[in-house]
Amino acid sequence: MDNYNYQSPVIMHDRSEQRFTEANIKLEDIQSQLAEMEIKLQALYSVIIEQGIDPKRVEDKIDELMKNRTAPTAPQLKARLCPECGKKVKPSSVDPLMGNCLFCGAKVPFNPSF
Ligand SMILES: [Zn+2]
Repeated sequence: MDNYNYQSPVIMHDRSEQRFTEANIKLEDIQSQLAEMEIKLQALYSVIIEQGIDPKRVEDKIDELMKNRTAPTAPQLKARLCPECGKKVKPSSVDPLMGNCLFCGAKVPFNPSF
C-alpha cells in the first residue's frame, strides 16, 4: 500500500479557530473597503467622462504615481458618530457602506469620502 500522498486531517484547536474567525473578519473588512473603493472609482470615472476629460490622462497619472510610489498607504481607520445617540459606530463588515450602532441599533450610512 502506498501512503506517500496521505495527509493527516487538520485538527482545529480552539486557538486556531479563533484566529480563523479573526482572519474572516479582516477579510470581510477588506471586502467592504473594496466595495467602497469601487463605488468611489465609478463616481470619479463618471465625473471625469462627464467633464470631457480624456481617460488617457488618468492612465498617465497612474503611471506617474506608480513611479513615485514609496510605500503603500495605511488603511484609514474610520468610525462615525451615531446620529441618534452620538456613540462611535464602525462600518459593518457584512453590509458595505453601512454601520450598526451597538448602543441604540441605529443604521448609520458610511458614504464614501475622500
Ligand atoms: Zn446610536
